[in-house]
Formats: sequence, C-alpha cells, structure tokens
Amino acid sequence: MSDDLSSRFRALWDEIAPVGRDAASGGYLRYALTGTELELRAWFRAQAQRRDLPVTGDGNGNLFAHWGDPEGSDAVLTGSHFDSVPHGGAYDGPLGIVSAFLAVDELRAAGVTPTRPLVLAAFVEEEGARFGVPCLGSRLLTGALDADRAAGLRDAAGVSFAEALGDRPAGARPELLGRFGAFVELHVEQGRALVDADAPVGVASAIWPHGRWRFDVVGEGNHAGTTRMADRRDPMLTYAFTVLAANKEARLRGAHATVGRVAVEPNATNAIPSKVTGWLDARAADPETLTGLVDAVRGKLAERARRDGTEVTVTEESVTPLVAFDGGLAKRLATLLGAPVLPTGAGHDAGVLAAHLPTAMLFVRNPTGVSHSPFEAATDDDCAAGVRALARVLEELTCR
Ligand SMILES: [Zn+2]
Repeated sequence: MSDDLSSRFRALWDEIAPVGRDAASGGYLRYALTGTELELRAWFRAQAQRRDLPVTGDGNGNLFAHWGDPEGSDAVLTGSHFDSVPHGGAYDGPLGIVSAFLAVDELRAAGVTPTRPLVLAAFVEEEGARFGVPCLGSRLLTGALDADRAAGLRDAAGVSFAEALGDRPAGARPELLGRFGAFVELHVEQGRALVDADAPVGVASAIWPHGRWRFDVVGEGNHAGTTRMADRRDPMLTYAFTVLAANKEARLRGAHATVGRVAVEPNATNAIPSKVTGWLDARAADPETLTGLVDAVRGKLAERARRDGTEVTVTEESVTPLVAFDGGLAKRLATLLGAPVLPTGAGHDAGVLAAHLPTAMLFVRNPTGVSHSPFEAATDDDCAAGVRALARVLEELTCR
C-alpha cells in the first residue's frame, strides 16, 4: 500500500540517490569529507535552510540542524551519518538523516510544536572507511577519542583527518553534549529479524560487544615447484585452518566470526608465501562469549602453527564493549509503536552516545537482510513507516 508519505520519501531520497554511486557495482563510495560526502553535507545544510533550521558544527565535523533554541537544554537529538563503506548500500546512514527531515515535516503538518529543542545530526566518519576509526565523529564529541590522535589519523593517500577537516578537531565538547537529553537514531536493519517478525519497524535493545584482531603468520617463502611438501613452512595453511576454526567456534557459540581481509607476501602464484596476515572480526551477545570465542580461535591458531612450523602473533586492534540501550526508553518506544525489540551485531554512533545520554535506535526492515553491500534494501513504504515511527517518537519525547 503506497501513500503520500511514501512518494514524499521517494522524492527526497532521489535527491541524494545519485551522489557517490558507483555505476559498475551499484554501491556507494561516500567517504567522509571527500567530494561526494561534502556534497551530501551541503544538501543537509540546504534541507535545514529550507525548513528554517539553523545549522551549527561541533568543530569535529559533526553537523547539527536545530528546531528550537540551539543553546537550549534537554534537546532531543536524532540523525545518523552520510559516509559509506567501499561499495556500501544506499540506506546505511543516510536513511536516518532523510527520515529526520521528513519527521520534522510530519510534525509540522500535524501542528506539533515541541517544548524541548529538536536537533538533527549528521555524524562524520561513522564507518571508519577513510581514517580507520569507526564512529570517529561521535567519539570525538564525547571525548572517547583524543583530538590529537584523531588529527593525525591518515587515509590511504596520506591525508590526515585534520587536513581533511581543514582544522585540528575540537575534541570533547561536554557543554554541547550536556545540552542533549536523548538520542534516537533511525537505521536500516542489518539483518533479517524484522523480515522474520513481519514488522516494518523495530526498536534496538543492545549492540553486541565486538572487536578486531590481526593475526600475523610468518613462515618461509620458497619456490612452489622445487620445495618438497615435507620441507615447507607455509603460513597460508595456518591462516586457512584459522579461518575455518573461527567459523566453527562461532557457530558452536551462537556468535559471529568473519575473516574478510587478508594480506599475503609476496602474493605470487608460484611462491609459498613468507607471511600471511588475516583480520578476525568477532561479535557475540555477551563479553564472556566473545572472549571465549577469541581465546578458542587463538588456541587453534597456535596449535596449527606448531604443526606448520610457522610463527604467529595476535594483536587486538579494537574491542567495543556491550552497549545496552536505555531499557526504559526502548520499552517505552516499543510500546508506543507496537514494534518488536531486537539486538544488533553492528556498531553505531548511538552506541557511543549511549554511554552519555538515554539513547534508542529504530530499525527499518531490510528485505534482503544484506548490508555494507549494494544489495542492501528497503521499500519506500517501509521507509515511510520508519518516518512515521520516528515522528511519533520525537513527538513523544519533545512534547511531554
Ligand atoms: Zn550506519
């Protein structure tokens, strides 16, 4: 059933749909503070201006559009991010921003006047695809990431975050953060729970603890034709066994393990590799399960390395603890919307802000369940349902 809001969603969505779209893959290349993302940020300012919402920045690259006093306290914050992973989907991030503008339109059309300020946000570098640290903007704002460290982060071309931003980032802004009384991030679901629940919109309960571990396996590079099988010290074998073991250990625990990135030296068809580096992404419902999973993978890796005559080092690159969203707020919103409550395995700016203020997330059904890929999807009707849900939530939070 299509309605007017579905077409208004489509019309606004079409304004940004071509920006940063790769014709070959159908995915998006919208890296933070590059030409495509700057175009989206200009679009954000134009949309805010069209609605008489003054825009401010926090000196870290995050943008805020204000309905109500920009200096007011106990504001309700909503929004998401524009940036994408390489060849990412259209909805991850931008859906939360487009929905926020449409929710404002819905509220105004219904004659709603908030008694608390409403603030629309576009956070910078949420995916970490350019400078390597996910949720960079929200981490800077909250002080979870040091401004000097962020300033020196470099992209693949050697450009620093400070250079891309045009200034040294401001870092923690406690007085600004203190003006926010709640944050609601609407996001496309990155799984199929809402498909199974037959519901267009859901409310998040928690973000699984997750982390990244790099494992370097060093063996002996040698000739593929002349080295006897018995004489080899092949790190590829250790690596391959570890990938399979990680998959098995994750399945045994109901957790998630992925090795999606690998570097091989010298990376030649006719050479036994001298070194293989793999990156393990592991996630689980609770920290004990996550630790158990990673320990088990480390154990298998060490055991296999002994058999292969290789040497391994495991480096913990980042670990994000369990984020339990404000239980009272999630329940209140789920009751208000009659929506199911579900956990997620993906990180978000909402996860960073949840440590500082009551935070909730709304998910919009994704029929493919696929995300970080061109196959990520959402129907216009479900997006309209998301806007309607967000508007109800914002009315509930800003008017009472
Ligand atoms: Zn996202």
